[in-house]
Amino acid sequence: GQILAETLRRQAHACRDRTAFVFGERRTSYSSLDELTNRVAQALAAAGCEPGARAAVLAGDSDHVYEVIGGCAKAGVVSLGINWRLAPPEIRFILEDSGARVLFVDAEFYSKVAAAIGDLEGLATVVVLEGAVEGLTAYAAWRDAAPAIDPCLTQSADDPVVQMYTSGTTGLPKGVVLANRSFFAVVDAMAAAGDGWIGWRGDDVSLLNIPSFHIGGLWWAMTGLNAGATGVILRAFNPGQVIDQVQRHRVTKVCMVPAMMQMVLAEPAAASADWSSLEAIVYGGSPIPRTLLERAMDTFGCEFAQIYGLTETGNTAVCLRHADHLDPSGERLKAAGRPYPGVRVEIIDREGRALPPREVGEIRVHSPANMLGYWNRPEATEATLRDGWVYTGDAGYLDEQGFVFVHDRVKDMIIYAGENVYPAEIESVLCAHPDVVEAAVIGVPDERWGEAVKAIVVRREGSDLRARALLAHARASLADFKVPKTVDWIDALPRTPSGKIKKAQLRTPYWEGRE
Ligand code: AMP
Ligand code: MG
Repeated sequence: GQILAETLRRQAHACRDRTAFVFGERRTSYSSLDELTNRVAQALAAAGCEPGARAAVLAGDSDHVYEVIGGCAKAGVVSLGINWRLAPPEIRFILEDSGARVLFVDAEFYSKVAAAIGDLEGLATVVVLEGAVEGLTAYAAWRDAAPAIDPCLTQSADDPVVQMYTSGTTGLPKGVVLANRSFFAVVDAMAAAGDGWIGWRGDDVSLLNIPSFHIGGLWWAMTGLNAGATGVILRAFNPGQVIDQVQRHRVTKVCMVPAMMQMVLAEPAAASADWSSLEAIVYGGSPIPRTLLERAMDTFGCEFAQIYGLTETGNTAVCLRHADHLDPSGERLKAAGRPYPGVRVEIIDREGRALPPREVGEIRVHSPANMLGYWNRPEATEATLRDGWVYTGDAGYLDEQGFVFVHDRVKDMIIYAGENVYPAEIESVLCAHPDVVEAAVIGVPDERWGEAVKAIVVRREGSDLRARALLAHARASLADFKVPKTVDWIDALPRTPSGKIKKAQLRTPYWEGRE
């Protein structure tokens, strides 16, 4: 099956009383998940949401968040999770851009949107997920007032089901529209191909520690659901909780970005924890330092698989299987893996011609999980998705066996603590300060996080602008994880004849001898 609503119905019969989700003390069986998502779908319809409408979620993860995602799918409504770390203007942009009709929000984050809600055209309903806000409807009451009747819409694998915002090299975030098939096509192909790939069983217990507003988190949760497994939900990633919940629930599968792995291993409790229930750790989302991977393999003592993908590819295009981690030469550990069954990866030059093995070019991905496009951005879609290929903006090469090596990034992106940070967005905020003439944002080495955000700024002549004031300005419109950690002042930015900032030249002094 390749339709989320269908998967929920199927599992209600196949798994019944088996636990779909654990969240703190709450447990949701597969049959009640089916019933609750029916109610959500009916409540959405009663709120005037037609198929194709957008519903936004600004919340920490919980069983309720997954009910909303499933309920939206049954109603044909496209759900969009918003990163709650974003600053109010960033959240407002997403609500406006998506034209969301309904907003599900935790009381904790309500203040981030309170000012905007009055004049957001189209936003008709606000439902409070966790906690209470005076004058607003509480989720459980809203849900349970609706009948538990499946709307049974006719749906296709190509219908949009989720929209995820990702920033890009051009600045403003874009809504990546993913279809039902994005979550199930690759899983089905993998199961058909047999062993070696990440296998799932109905008695698997997976940890849902990557936020559902990131493709990595949602893909992981949907894959478990498709297998009838139990997902243990963390409200937000927290290394101590990972250690606690893995032991408490005898978790068998965990997916982490390298920054999360690093944080878990840094906990003193990690060394003495009982990891014996773990069967597989799946990691990816950014390059992984070799030493970190070796330490993780040593500590967790389970199978490992790496994944490579983008929000635009439905996340999992390439996988380095466990067997490849054991290659005695260690050469394979430098690869991100091989394409899944049904996925094609090519390396192309600037003219779009496919390159032979070992030549570096841009990675492009042809996958049944690829996005439908960017929401309301035909030009951006045309630039990234052509003839079924997603142009990743990542540089890399293939070897003779088809292993993909992610070399470096063509695109201008920093990965800080597992969050993608796009300099263009930050540069435009810095340049909006009256005393800033121009600014460049780069990633510099950081012991703890791999990379940290640095701003290199040209001040207006005679200005005595200081870093503290400039960063306060940035913090007003950017999420904390995007705000530069340090500022360097410079007389003029180095530029190419065509006027592009020479980022490589700015980066070199910081990275010499490390890359
Ligand atoms: P996102 O759209 O947030 O999922 O980020 C996608 C980007 O993360 C890719 O374009 C890569 O630059 C990076 N990425 C994802 N997986 C890997 C990996 N296994 N190794 C290196 N970089 C990765
Ligand atoms: Mg992205």
